[in-house]
Amino acid sequence: MGALTPGTSTTADRSPVRGRGEDAWLGKADLHIHTSYSDGMADVPELLDYVEERTDLDIIGIVDHDDIRGALAGREAWAKGRYRFEVVTGIEVTAIEGHVLALFVEEPVASLVPLEQVVDAVHKQGGLCVVPHPLSWLTRSIGARTLARFAGSFDGIEVACCSPAARVSLRRAATLNRRGLGLAEMGGSDAHFLQAIGSAYTEFEGRMGAELKEAISGRTTRAAYGPPIAWRSIGVGHMLRQTWRGIRATPRAMGWGPTARSFMRRIFHSR
Ligand SMILES: [Zn+2]
Ligand SMILES: [Zn+2]
Repeated sequence: MGALTPGTSTTADRSPVRGRGEDAWLGKADLHIHTSYSDGMADVPELLDYVEERTDLDIIGIVDHDDIRGALAGREAWAKGRYRFEVVTGIEVTAIEGHVLALFVEEPVASLVPLEQVVDAVHKQGGLCVVPHPLSWLTRSIGARTLARFAGSFDGIEVACCSPAARVSLRRAATLNRRGLGLAEMGGSDAHFLQAIGSAYTEFEGRMGAELKEAISGRTTRAAYGPPIAWRSIGVGHMLRQTWRGIRATPRAMGWGPTARSFMRRIFHSR
């Protein structure tokens, strides 16, 4: 398992799976991308064009906060174009215990409810649950006790991510996962700017969404880092505007009252 340091894996690394014939391919998926439907700075058309022209990703996942509209709009726009990559629809759901990525879902999933309900709702739709920025105290995240309690229900965990919020605890999360949780190891950019897309990704055998889903379920994925983010090219003003959008993302989707009350409920749930 290499490439767990930002910038160590580049687009030049790509090669067919050794010893598996010409058809075998290691696909790259970044399943944690936000659009302007929540607190991302790019709209759907900009996002699709960027992925097509500036990355070598095979699959992207659109996961706006508590809102499936960005993902559905993304897939609709994608279906009208001729892109070489696939779009997976999803939501970054705010459960009482913290954020969870609902992937391969088509229907809304309730937010600000106990995690158990979220996991059930996602699996009922045939979707997968992935833990983003695990253990992070910088953003609303699933804690160690909850991770252990739900190890049998989660499908994957992000152990590669370039976002500052995730990086404070990734190493600890990777260790916990290897020592017992046994979830699929995944990389996701948590991109809110175009420039961050693909900075971390999930490698899997295959190229298509169905193969990726199988790889996550079978725990055969690998987390990796892409080219480092050129933060300077984003600009401070743009970054500040994004921070403000980020603070409002869940309240805007769910209302300020329910969001505030869910913080209180969280105190009574173990981390
Ligand atoms: Zn999050
Ligand atoms: Zn996110």
